[in-house]
Amino acid sequence: MQGIMGDELSPRKAEYLKYIYTQDGVVKTTDIAAHFSVAPSTVTKALLDIARAGYIEHSPYHGVRLTAHGTDYARFLFRRHRIVALVLSRHGLKPAEACMEAKKIEQCISRDITNRICTSLGHPVMSVCGEIEHDRGCCSPENRKSLDPHQT
Ligand SMILES: [Zn+2]
Ligand SMILES: [Zn+2]
Repeated sequence: MQGIMGDELSPRKAEYLKYIYTQDGVVKTTDIAAHFSVAPSTVTKALLDIARAGYIEHSPYHGVRLTAHGTDYARFLFRRHRIVALVLSRHGLKPAEACMEAKKIEQCISRDITNRICTSLGHPVMSVCGEIEHDRGCCSPENRKSLDPHQT
């Protein structure tokens, strides 16, 4: 989880990673292409880059699956999206609008800024489009404490 800045993947590649995370196990290239309505060759090329960067690995029959790092990263992407959407929803946007508009701007929000916004909101657990996970990579003080058993 250390080392995530938030801008490692292009917005489109980040969306691919999020989609793979929502599927169970191995995801077929053709499924990803169909979901995003793009040519399989385009997806294949992007997946190669994502695999080279260590987020996914290829498995037989033209599929990919997340690595441990990819899973952590996808969780971060969802947390960032939902925190940004929550902020927008608190400033006049309807839930569906907040979710849609968040997708346009979330790529610009670094992990550090995401954590600072999350902290200022009091580490919310629910956004307009799903639960906000507070796992090991999150900023919440309770999580930090549970990471270090020596701290009381
Ligand atoms: Zn959303
Ligand atoms: Zn938090």
